Amino acid sequence: MNRRLGRFLRSSVGRMRALSCGGILALSLGAVALLQAACTKEEPYTKETFVMGTKAWVTIAGAKSEDAERAALAVFREMYRIESVMSNWKSSSEVSRLNAQSQGKPFAVSRELFSLIDSSFYYSERTFGAFDVTVRPLVTLWGFEGGSAARLPTDAEIGGAMALIGYGKATLDPSAPAITLPPGMEIDLAGIAKGYAVDRCAAALRERGIANAFVNLGGNIFAMGSAPGERGWPIGIRDPRGGANAVGTIMLKDEAVATSGNYENFVDIDGKRYGHIIDPRTGRPIDAVLSVTVVAPTGLESDALSTGFFVLGPERSKDAVASLRRVKALFAVEEGGEVAYIQVGDFGGTLRLSDATVLRVQ
Ligand code: ADP
Ligand code: MG
Repeated sequence: MNRRLGRFLRSSVGRMRALSCGGILALSLGAVALLQAACTKEEPYTKETFVMGTKAWVTIAGAKSEDAERAALAVFREMYRIESVMSNWKSSSEVSRLNAQSQGKPFAVSRELFSLIDSSFYYSERTFGAFDVTVRPLVTLWGFEGGSAARLPTDAEIGGAMALIGYGKATLDPSAPAITLPPGMEIDLAGIAKGYAVDRCAAALRERGIANAFVNLGGNIFAMGSAPGERGWPIGIRDPRGGANAVGTIMLKDEAVATSGNYENFVDIDGKRYGHIIDPRTGRPIDAVLSVTVVAPTGLESDALSTGFFVLGPERSKDAVASLRRVKALFAVEEGGEVAYIQVGDFGGTLRLSDATVLRVQ
């Protein structure tokens, strides 16, 4: 089955499990990594859509419903606009044109695309090369881009793709602005664009005078202000093995969260499952952890770091967290058939896990 259709169907199934009772709103969504659980007195306004291959929704509290509806539509317009710039699925998108046309020559790009790629390279540095948007030749080789890999790539094929990647080989010229990608190198913004988009959406809401809202784009969340009667927005942490119940909550206020895991997007080759996050240093998919959830001041940062930390694992991520402000991560790992959680960085009382959960602080 086509992967996008598969994702869409999974999200629709998730939607059927959505519950809304009295003051409690508990959405369980197959296409996202996190659940929203907000207890409210007056029901906030919620609207949803499908964009960037996933489900998105916005919840707005404390605004008149006409204003909330207009603001939600502006949020979705911003998501569609960013998709048209950043998507690898659309051959007309700016990033697709850069990939097809640079081939060793400077390619003039918008200030927006330039700055997202520039930020991506910044997070490559902070994650010791684990997060690298130039990884696309490997993403394609392993069959995560449209096709299905019927067989494992050979070592020679992996070596060939690895020769094309590496953010240090791209040239950024801020004055033009322009980007030069060596022949064969291609950029894949799937690990950062949704997080960037929720930041832009939060800005669009602020411009409209909205102070309390929640934007979720495929599990990339920005929480502005608070849910009614709360100290922030309580976000349910999804069971990394796909169970319907949240395993805990994180309280977010004016910050973002993102989760990277292998349970949503993978290929099966010869009966073995390969997840969609690839270690740029080995050219192979990573499966050392089940998922990693990162809280950070911006959606862009939480998205890039959740993908990078997934590659790095809890130990090495600790060094990265120490060098970043207001960043913390929760890893889910499998230990003897059970799921254990490892906390990296200080959640300062905002993290609650259900009683039976094993939590270690690294
Ligand atoms: P999702 O896109 O499902 O929200 P992520 O934010 O973790 O999940 O991004 C994973 C996507 O990023 C992959 O599907 C792939 O397109 C791309 N990717 C894979 N490995 C890396 C990597 N090491 N660095 C940057 N992007 C990656
Ligand atoms: Mg990411």
